[in-house]
Amino acid sequence: MRTEPGIWRNWAGNQHCAPHAVDRPTSEPELVGVVERAAAAGRRVKAVGAGHSFTSIACTDGHLVDLSRYGRLLHVDPAARQVTVEAGMTLRGLNRKLAARDLAVENLGDIAYQSVAGAAATATHGTGARFRNLSSQIVGMRLITGAGEALDCSPTERPDVWSSARVGVGALGLLSTLTIQCVPAFNLHAVEEARPVDEVLEELDDLVDGNDHFELFWIPGTRWALTKRNRRTHEPAQPRRRWEAFRNEVLYDNLAFGAMLRIGRRRPDLIPRLAKRIPSAGRQEYVERSDRVFASPRLVHFLEMEYAVPRVAFRPAFEAVRDLVARMRVPVGFPVECRFVAGDDIPLSTASGRDTAYIAVHTAIGAPHEEYFSGVEAAMDRYDGRPHWGKLHFRTAAALAPRYPRWQEFQAVRAELDPAGTFANPYTDRVLGPVGA
Ligand SMILES: Cc1cc2nc3c(=O)[nH]c(=O)nc-3n(C[C@H](O)[C@H](O)[C@H](O)COP(=O)(O)OP(=O)(O)OC[C@H]3O[C@@H](n4cnc5c(N)ncnc54)[C@H](O)[C@@H]3O)c2cc1C
Repeated sequence: MRTEPGIWRNWAGNQHCAPHAVDRPTSEPELVGVVERAAAAGRRVKAVGAGHSFTSIACTDGHLVDLSRYGRLLHVDPAARQVTVEAGMTLRGLNRKLAARDLAVENLGDIAYQSVAGAAATATHGTGARFRNLSSQIVGMRLITGAGEALDCSPTERPDVWSSARVGVGALGLLSTLTIQCVPAFNLHAVEEARPVDEVLEELDDLVDGNDHFELFWIPGTRWALTKRNRRTHEPAQPRRRWEAFRNEVLYDNLAFGAMLRIGRRRPDLIPRLAKRIPSAGRQEYVERSDRVFASPRLVHFLEMEYAVPRVAFRPAFEAVRDLVARMRVPVGFPVECRFVAGDDIPLSTASGRDTAYIAVHTAIGAPHEEYFSGVEAAMDRYDGRPHWGKLHFRTAAALAPRYPRWQEFQAVRAELDPAGTFANPYTDRVLGPVGA
C-alpha cells in the first residue's frame, strides 16, 4: 500500500482514491470516534488493511481508516487454542506470535502481508481439500456498526451477525477485534516439482485428496505445470539452505517471472520460449514450519483475477481457460494457479456450501488484461463461478446474487448494521447493490 499527499494507492497500484481524511486509530474508542464523526457529517467510512486487494474494495472519498497502528495481540486462551487480535494485525505478525506459543493458523494463502481483518473480509484462502479458508477460523468478532456501537458476535452471541461478518466484504462495519481458532504448531513436508500438465490432470483427484495441500501452476505456452505438495508432519524441520530458499522464492518465483513479464510486454512473441526455461529449476523437497511453507515473498507486482468453481467442475473450467489462452492474440506470460479448498458455511464466502476449486489468472502491471480476464470470466460463468472479492472482475450484484444461495442473510445483517450505507463505496454498490436492496 502506498500513499502520496492526498492519494491512496493499493499494492498493485491499479486502484487509487482521494479520501476526505485518513484516520489512523490506535484504540477502539478512536475507531468509534471516526464512525461517529463521519456519520454526523454524512460521509462514508472505509477501513483499509494492507491494501493487497486488486479491486477498489478499500477505496473511499470519505474517511479512510488505516489500521496499521491497530494490530496488537490482546488475548491468548491456551486451552481453547484461540487468540484475539486487533483488526490491523498482519498475518505475518500473527504467524510470529502464534509460533512463539506453539500454535499456528490451520491454513494460509500464498502471502502473509495482509491484515487479519482484510484477509477475512474477502474470504482469503490457501489450498487443501480438507481445509477451509481463513474466515472459517474466526470464532468471535467485535465490530463497530454504522450507529457507532461496538457489537460482539460469535456462534453463541448474535450468531447471525457472526455468520455473515466472517466474510463481510468491508460492508458490515469496522471490525475492531477478531478471535481466531488456532491449531497446534505443525511442520509441512513440501515437495515442489515441474511435471507435464496433462499427467497432473490425469492424477488430479489423487494429488488433491492424497496430499494435505496441493496446488498447481500451469505455465501457458508450455505443457508444464509447477506442482506443490505439502503434507502435515511432526518431522523436525529440514529447511532449504538459505541460498536454495533465496533462489527459489526470490529469483525463481519472483524475478524470473518478473523478467519474463517485462520482456514479454515488449516482445510477447518470446513468452513461449522464455516460459519453457522456467520449469528447469527441478525438484526440491524440504520440511519447514507451516507458515514459512504456505507464504512466500511477492516482489513482482501483477494484476490478478481468481474464480471459485465447484470442485467437480474444475476440469472443464480449466480446459476452458487453456482453450482461451491458446486463442489469445497476445501470449499469456504468467502462470495459471489452481487450488482446492473445502466448502464452508459462510453466506458470502466464495466456497460457501461447496467444495471449491480456484483458478487464478495474472498479467503484468501495464499489460492489457481486459480481453484475457473477461474471456476467463465468461468461461467461469458457465460453471457458476464466484469471483474473489479482492481480485479483479467485472460482475455486478445482479449476476452474483443467484450464485450465493444465502445472499439475503447477508443483506439482512447489512441492512440492520449499516442502514445508512456508511461502509459502502462504489465497489460494494456494484457487487452488493445498495443497502436494503
Ligand atoms: C501478492 C498477492 C497475493 C495474494 N494471495 C492471495 C492468496 O493466496 N489467497 C487469497 O485468497 N487471496 C490472496 N490475495 C488477495 C488478498 O488476500 C485479499 O485481497 C485481502 O483482502 C487483502 O488483505 P488486506 O489486509 O490488504 O485488505 P485490503 O485490501 O486493505 O481490504 C480488503 C477489504 O477488507 C476491508 N477491511 C480491512 N480491514 C477492515 C476492518 N478492520 N473492518 C472492516 N473491513 C475491513 C476493507 O475495507 C476492504 O473492503 C493476494 C493479493 C496479493 C496482492
